[in-house]
Amino acid sequence: MRIDIITIFPDYFGPLEVSLIGKAAQRGDITFRVHDLRTWARDAHHSVDDAPYGGGPGMVMKPEPWGEALDAVLTAAGPARLVVPSPSGLPFTQRMAAEYAREPRLIFACGRYEGIDARVVEDARVRMPVDEVSIGDYVLAGGEPAVLVMTEAIGRLLPGVIGNARSAADDSFGGGGGPMAGLIEGPVYTRPRVWRGREVPPVLLSGDHAAIARWRRDCALRTTAANRPDLAARLAAGQAVTDTAARGEGAARGAGAARGAGAARGAGAAEGEGALDARDRELLFEAGLRRCGTLKAAAPHRLTQQGRAWGLAALAEETEAALLQACA
Ligand code: SAM
Repeated sequence: MRIDIITIFPDYFGPLEVSLIGKAAQRGDITFRVHDLRTWARDAHHSVDDAPYGGGPGMVMKPEPWGEALDAVLTAAGPARLVVPSPSGLPFTQRMAAEYAREPRLIFACGRYEGIDARVVEDARVRMPVDEVSIGDYVLAGGEPAVLVMTEAIGRLLPGVIGNARSAADDSFGGGGGPMAGLIEGPVYTRPRVWRGREVPPVLLSGDHAAIARWRRDCALRTTAANRPDLAARLAAGQAVTDTAARGEGAARGAGAARGAGAARGAGAAEGEGALDARDRELLFEAGLRRCGTLKAAAPHRLTQQGRAWGLAALAEETEAALLQACA
C-alpha cells in the first residue's frame, strides 16, 4: 500500500518510522510519501491561508496550493482515494479502517486553521473518490494527529503487520465480523496468576475453550453496556453495528428494527454479525435494569425516553414490559 500525506508540518510524521508501522514501512509493506504543502505556494512568503469570506475569526486554507498539490501528488503514482480529516466528516470506524486497508493507495490532506476552502474537495471529487472523515467529537488543531491515528488503525490490518492475524478479529469492534462484532473487549490477563492478592479469573485457567469464549463474551457485553450504551442499543436493536455505524445509517435503521424474537436478526443485521443468543439478551437486560435504576435515581422524567433510546424497545416485548415495570 502507498500512503501520501500532504501537510504544512512534514516533521509531524516522524512516528511513522517507529514500532509496527515503522517496521512495515522498512519491509516495504507500506510506502509513505510526506509532501510539504508550501512547495505549491506561489507567493514570496509561501502562504497557504487567507481570511474567510463572510468574515469571522481565524483563517482558511487557500484553494490554489491545495489544488496544485493534489494534482501533482495524484499523478505521481496510480489511482488513489483521498481522505480529508475533518471534525464534520463521517466518523472513522474499524470497518472504514478495514476498507481503507484494501485500497492500493490513499492520499491524506491535512487541514489547519479553520479548514480547507470547500471547493478543493468538490474539485478533487471529479478525479478520485473522496471521504471527509472525523476521528471523534472534538476539535484538533490540525489533521496531522488524525492521520497518524488512521494510519495506525489501517496499517495494522495489512497482512503480516501484526504477528497474529486472528487478534484483529478478536479486538474491540471485531474487525472482519469476528466474535467481537459490535462489542468492545473485556479485561485481559497474563502471568503471574496472583498479583498483589488479585487472582486471575479461574475460568481462564480451566482449559475449557467454550467456557472461556462464553466468559469473554459475557465480559464484552457487560463492558459494552457500561461504557458504550450506544453500541449496546444497536446490538439490542439487531443492527449490524460495524456495517451501519460507518455510513451513518444506524439511526434510520434502528427505529424500524423488528420487535420480538426476530429482533436480533432484524432490519440491519448481516447474517452472523450482531446476532444475540439468549444469554446475550439476558446480560443486556440486566445491564438495562442497572441503567434504568441509575437513571431513575438521577432523572426519573427521562427514564422512558432514555430507555427507548438505549434500544430497549427492540428487546423481546415481555422483556421490555418487565424492564419498564421494574423501572417505573
Ligand atoms: N473550523 C473547523 C470546525 O469547526 O469544524 C475546525 C478546524 S480544525 C481547528 C483544523 C483542522 O484539524 C481540520 O481542518 C481538520 O483537518 C483537523 N481536525 C480537527 N478536528 C478533527 C477531528 N475530530 N477529526 C479529524 N480531523 C480533525
